[in-house]
Amino acid sequence: MSLLLPAAACAQAYVGRPKLVVIVVIDQFRGDYLNRDRAEFKGRGFRLFMDQGAWFTDCYYDYANTKTAPGHATIGTGAYSDGHGIESNEFWDASRSWEKKVSSVEDERYQLVDLPPASIPANQPGAPATALNYVIGSSPRNLRATTLGDELRLATQGRARVYGVSLKDRAAILPAGQAANGAFWIDNSSGHFTTSTYYMEHLPEWARAFNASDRPAQAVRDAKLDSTTQFFELVGHMPAANSYELDFTKALIDGEKLGQRGVTDLVVVSLSANDIQGHQFGPDSDSEEQMILALDHDLDDFNSWLDKTVGLDNVWLALTADHGIPSIPADAARLGINAATVDMDALYQMLNAELNARYSKGKQSQYILPGPDLPYITLDRRAFEKAGIGEQAAEEAVAALLPGAVTAQTPKIAQDANPAQPPAQHRLPPSPQFAGAYTRLEMAHGTLPSTEFGRLLAHSYADHGNWYVFLALGAYQMEDFHGGLATTHFTPWSYDRDVPLAFYGAPFAAGEYHIRVAPVDLAATLASLAGINQPSASVGRVLTESIKPVKPAVEQ
Ligand SMILES: [Zn+2]
Repeated sequence: MSLLLPAAACAQAYVGRPKLVVIVVIDQFRGDYLNRDRAEFKGRGFRLFMDQGAWFTDCYYDYANTKTAPGHATIGTGAYSDGHGIESNEFWDASRSWEKKVSSVEDERYQLVDLPPASIPANQPGAPATALNYVIGSSPRNLRATTLGDELRLATQGRARVYGVSLKDRAAILPAGQAANGAFWIDNSSGHFTTSTYYMEHLPEWARAFNASDRPAQAVRDAKLDSTTQFFELVGHMPAANSYELDFTKALIDGEKLGQRGVTDLVVVSLSANDIQGHQFGPDSDSEEQMILALDHDLDDFNSWLDKTVGLDNVWLALTADHGIPSIPADAARLGINAATVDMDALYQMLNAELNARYSKGKQSQYILPGPDLPYITLDRRAFEKAGIGEQAAEEAVAALLPGAVTAQTPKIAQDANPAQPPAQHRLPPSPQFAGAYTRLEMAHGTLPSTEFGRLLAHSYADHGNWYVFLALGAYQMEDFHGGLATTHFTPWSYDRDVPLAFYGAPFAAGEYHIRVAPVDLAATLASLAGINQPSASVGRVLTESIKPVKPAVEQ
């Protein structure tokens, strides 16, 4: 006769599905940050993952377009851009507009919900006279793969509830998925949480109560401001924004009784503040360290609250990020790194001049669509087609022009960035470096180098009906922002791909794992443990080394 272990023993073993899964995504959080400040962490914040969870110290995105929207889509779907269809935060979509890029989640078929009166756009009822005719709704319309949350909803015939929370719409929507019950992000002006009619006609009562409470004003005060109509810009980059988001997440868990309904629920919370301040001050700043330590405190508070509310024995937690970040170019250059910046407007002018000379002599045709958004350079196929040039010839022409166009740019690094530490006089200033250009057709057909780099490129492919060329600059090089005094992420280089990956919960064997893993492994591992299908385009590996062996039933 076969008997299951008695109840007391079962409590020690893995008992199947948890009540609640919480995936914490920190926007722009490089994997090495956890090591830098390890000695300073206290309580059950980061230490819960590092000391009591399965912490993977070497997690790298396996693609070359390390932006926020594709990162969040990757975390949810366990797939890269070639699987989930999101390659950038915004892109030219030939089926939707030749006038402007579209964001990864904007969707004019939906509207934003329950905005405060001052933020209602002119195209919605109740708008003030000063309203901008601009704001439209959002949805996961561009997501071409299911997420972990979608599969959980399918596996439970909709009984599981799935939510996304962030300051940014894309970071709330994309990791949660198509079948999510809700995704919440803020109105940039007031900081009030909103959502889209894709999910619901009105905010739930608990969310309206949160917006009506003193909490938004408290966040403003915590950011040392009296009041603001620029919440995203002025509060969003402060540690106060993280505790604000986590408090909203508590209200969500409370309001929807998540983890308290006899089924597995899922929340993805993406903490945006680190990214907003990180672009401005870089990874090596005092403000970055202050942000990390404040977040450690906030996560301790959140995890302790979860323990009281749902019980940490019943919760699985995962921690990761959507991308890393390089040092500020001026800082890297001072240490001798060839961290040049490239003036993309000048580069685009040079490309257009060369293409006009070749295909439309004496004219000023625009062959490149404006608004540089590396790593993709999008071609205006209408201009090429007018000149009788097909896609292959057009993309190959631009790819062939890029090495010369990049290296012809004058390096722009502010030499007076830090007068106390001038650059070494015996070295030449940094110079722009071309690292590779690949056509959309090469990426679509997989005719890429059979190298590690080729694999990253293949994973960066997505198609919105436009022709484009993928450009890689040298390591630590980027588009110019403020004379090299700010920084950004978009490259195939390791600093942009490096993120933390850690799990906490009953099935995980605590430890520090130095094997190389990838963020796509998060969805695969959680799906496997929950006993549900991996998301539709999942390419992740189940991280079996971190899973406790399941004790077999005792034979008697
Ligand atoms: Zn990001």
